Formats: sequence, structure tokens, C-alpha cells
Amino acid sequence: MTKIVELSNESYKKYDREKYELEIEPYLTEKIFDVHAHVGPSSVVSNNITEERIKERFELTTCSSLTYEDYFKAFDILFGSKRFSGGLFFAYPFKEINLEKANEYVGSRIDNSKIFGLITASPYHKKDYFEELIEKYGFIGFKPYPDLYDFKDESKIKISDYVSEDMLYIANKYKLILLIHLKSYNGGQGINSDEYLQEIHNIFEKFPDIKLIIPHMGRAHCPKIAEAGIKKVIKYFGNDKIYFDTSTCTQRKSFEIFLENYSTDKILFGNDIGVSLIRAKFYCIDDEKKVLVPREKFPWYKESGFNRDVSIFVYESLSELFKALRNLGADRSMLNKLMYDNSNNLIKEVVKSESFGN
Ligand SMILES: [Zn+2]
Repeated sequence: MTKIVELSNESYKKYDREKYELEIEPYLTEKIFDVHAHVGPSSVVSNNITEERIKERFELTTCSSLTYEDYFKAFDILFGSKRFSGGLFFAYPFKEINLEKANEYVGSRIDNSKIFGLITASPYHKKDYFEELIEKYGFIGFKPYPDLYDFKDESKIKISDYVSEDMLYIANKYKLILLIHLKSYNGGQGINSDEYLQEIHNIFEKFPDIKLIIPHMGRAHCPKIAEAGIKKVIKYFGNDKIYFDTSTCTQRKSFEIFLENYSTDKILFGNDIGVSLIRAKFYCIDDEKKVLVPREKFPWYKESGFNRDVSIFVYESLSELFKALRNLGADRSMLNKLMYDNSNNLIKEVVKSESFGN
């Protein structure tokens, strides 16, 4: 298993077990669909990851590779393997990854029954490449990523820079999923950025059949961003056009804002295994997101702070999601929707769609 992954037997601590038994297990559903899962062997990662890049993207040291086997091992330690009922897999989306080889690896295990896949796509890939992969493996969509656009300053990257027309055309043609990360554009964070929402609006105008997932609750990690952002999303698109995945959000209040204001049919549980296997937790100072990671492991990381009570990222996220659901009086069927049904419904719709070749 990747060296920094926390889940070797020695590093899964009593503290994690207690958190699991108290705050997670009682609310966990029998079936879990993980809509945000990264895999890729180490052979697709370049050996030349520079110091400068590591400082910029600490994910490069935590999770640039994880095989399917490692994923299932991690899932078993986290939740028990019996609960795995479906996963949407894709490669790690960094400049240092050989995407063509990584996509082949992801594709090789797709069965479109429990294992589904997205093509990790750079803006430089062309239609023919996408068609070929869809035909060969049955991929059900795309995962583009700002880091794959050849430009340095992420705060100036627009969606149209890293999501190409070719991608959109194919996604629309086969009614596929497009999972797009929103960063901070010109100071506007995630779904609270009018520039991004306007771009998404333009995408839907031209490509209405795309199924859009925005991960990490639209980057509304901080409640202030969630509150302002969800209002804007609803104003632009109504409350059920876009799907959001829960991965790496660790703020109970942000979850509550979504659950109270947005369609609960469109909120999907996601792990983000790799990065979520480290010990980490987001916290907010006002509307500014900070991340707690153990300083002894990431001494060079600008936001690292020592906190021995930080558990595994995915546990930190799930325990907050479950707290939010409890606070709102949600019942078992709501848990089932978020942990399994919503993703299953979305994916069935894509796989069974006639345009997908069935
Ligand atoms: Zn991810």
C-alpha cells in the first residue's frame, strides 16, 4: 500500500476505532456506493516529482497511486468489505501521471455492475480517444481537472480551460457523467463563484444531457460559502439539476445547509480514497478554509498544524455528515439515499440509457 496511507494495522489507532464505533458504525448503511474513488498503479506515476510541485500539491506525496487491491483493502479496514456495493473509479489527475496508461488501468476492471469508471481527461485529448475508451471499456463519463491544464496559476483557470468541447460533446452525446472540481476563481470559491456558475450555465445551454457532479460539496467547505453558494446554485439551476459529492467536507454546518436547502436526491456519498486515507480535517476561519494535517508528517505544508485527535479524513467527513443528519432528524431511508440509492439511481440511468449502446 502507498507509504503514507494511514491504514496499515499499526497506524489504525484506538482513537480511530472509537470514533468509528461511536460516530459512524451505528449510522452506516448495509450498502455503500462510493462515487469518488481514485486508483492507479505506481507504474503510471513519473519519477520526477519536484519539491516545488510537492509544496504546491501535497496530495502528490499522499496518494498519487493506489491499486484496486489497495482500495478494497482500505475499504475493508474502514467499513468492512461487505458494505461495498458500487464505486465510481478514476485515475489520479495530476501532471505527473501518464493518463493514457492510467485510464487503461481503471478501464481494465470496469464491469458496469459494481465497478464503474470515468475517463481522467486532459483538455488536450480528442474525441476519437474518448470514443475508443468508451467502446473498449464502458466508461460512463469524464473527470477533468485543473491541474491537467498546462498553466500555472490555478486561481485564473476557468472551467473552459480544463474542460474541452470534445469532452462536453461526447458526454452529451452518450448522456454521461461529468465530474468537475471547482477551485477558487478570482477569489470566488467553488459554488460561490458567479464566474463558474455562469460557465456551467453555458455548458448546460449547449449540452443539456450531461449529468454534472461537483465534488467536495462544491468546495463549500466553510458554512459561509455553503450558505451563499447554495442560494446562487438554486437561482441558476434550481435545487436538483446538479449532483454534489460529500467527499472531504468536514463541516457539519455546511452539510446541514445543503440538506436543508437542496434536493437530498442529489447528494452522493464519496470517499476520495486516496487523499482521504491520511489524517486530516478542514476547519474554517471565517470563510477561509484551513486544513489540519499532522505537522510531523507534512512539516513543509503551509497549513499543517499538530493535532493528535485528528482521525482519518474520511471518518472526519462521515462523522460530520451523520451529525448533520441527526440534527435534522433524518431517518434510515435518508441515510440509505445518501450512502447508496442516489448514486445507484444516477449510474443506472447512465448505463441503461439507450444512447450508451444498450
Ligand atoms: Zn478526488
